[in-house]
Amino acid sequence: MNRTIEQIREDFPILSQNINDRPLVYLDNAATTHRPKQVIEAIERYYKEINANPHRGAHKLSILSTEAYEGTREKVRAFINANSTKEIVFTKNTTEALNLIAYSYGMNFIEEGDEIAISIAEHHSNLIPWQQVASAKKAILKYLYTDSEGRIPCSELRDKIGPKTKLVSIAHMTNTFGIINPVKEIINYAHDMGALVILDGAQSVPHRKVDVQKLDADFLVFSGHKMMAPMGVGVLYGKEEILEKMPPFLYGGDMIEYVWEQKSTFAELPFKLEAGTQNVEAVVGLGAAIDYINETGIENIEAIEEELTTYALDKLKEIPYVTLYGPKDTLNRGGVISFNIEGVHPHDVASIVDTYGVALRAGHHCAQPFMKYMKINSTSRISFYFYNTKEEIDVFIESIKNVRKWLGYEPK
Ligand code: PMP
Repeated sequence: MNRTIEQIREDFPILSQNINDRPLVYLDNAATTHRPKQVIEAIERYYKEINANPHRGAHKLSILSTEAYEGTREKVRAFINANSTKEIVFTKNTTEALNLIAYSYGMNFIEEGDEIAISIAEHHSNLIPWQQVASAKKAILKYLYTDSEGRIPCSELRDKIGPKTKLVSIAHMTNTFGIINPVKEIINYAHDMGALVILDGAQSVPHRKVDVQKLDADFLVFSGHKMMAPMGVGVLYGKEEILEKMPPFLYGGDMIEYVWEQKSTFAELPFKLEAGTQNVEAVVGLGAAIDYINETGIENIEAIEEELTTYALDKLKEIPYVTLYGPKDTLNRGGVISFNIEGVHPHDVASIVDTYGVALRAGHHCAQPFMKYMKINSTSRISFYFYNTKEEIDVFIESIKNVRKWLGYEPK
């Protein structure tokens, strides 16, 4: 990487802010990331110089808007190595992309008695849509349960995925314990059984190379806001032959070919699945975010985060009243760390460290069935992006050491 961490941080105006009179230490990147000025400026330029409805108009601004929108589609295609831009559909976020698959594919191709397999560690976005499909189609929703570290044992694949399985939907990386699931093995195994596989890439695509052709994923979904782009844009990748079979999810303008009084025919891919005016400025921001990631190097991002995660895990392990969840090293785990402080509710942890300028997340992390399965009420969670530093982790560790003091516990 040809830039220092100081130069990188200068690109993110928000990071130089003080929160509660302390420098911001932002460790909530699994929830959303910050935007560099390159993304902010790309959106500003779009508003100042283009701002027109794409695809529809013959006037210059509409043509420029179409170029900006479709230009990002090509950047996304190259970023995940899809075969064609027809396979890239813009959605609002990961959640909408998963719902699109559930409503368009699930409700039309899943039949009574079919099985859908997901892991117990899925985010609610990758769980509730399948409950809905299973209940509407009288299908069976099966769970792959994890071991105590949050990993899926091979035996679960053999026990839960079989000839009746039609869909497997799985997080590439979990947002609770940061587990990187063995998705290549899962995809190979599911394909052998005749099932399609959806990868929830919300936590993986921003942080490590994801190549849909190498993985042979049938679908991949992710959110722009977790990779420095604005909120309000997400991506659905699907293999062309599968998307081709799927009926539209939403109906209206932009997704049609011809419309008569009593029937309509629909546009070709990907437009068939993008009804109505899209969030073009957010898509433009996503294009700038991908440029930023490419200039930084996704492998550099992964390496920086691995170093930060090792550093934080080692520091947390030294504190006797901290319980760490998930693997204690960085083998097949990303930069998300869940923990609890003995005797202190995670919401109190989050509020107290906030007074030190530290932003972290507390709660069930939209994974209630997993938390119940793990017999945990809630956790505190820190999560990194490549703009974080070891010095920030030191501030976080100091703030953690003060939590019990604040609440009147004696030193351990
Ligand atoms: N899946 C995973 C693994 C996530 O971490 C998240 C966001 N926390 C989502 C899905 C949902 O993302 P969004 O809210 O952007 O739709």
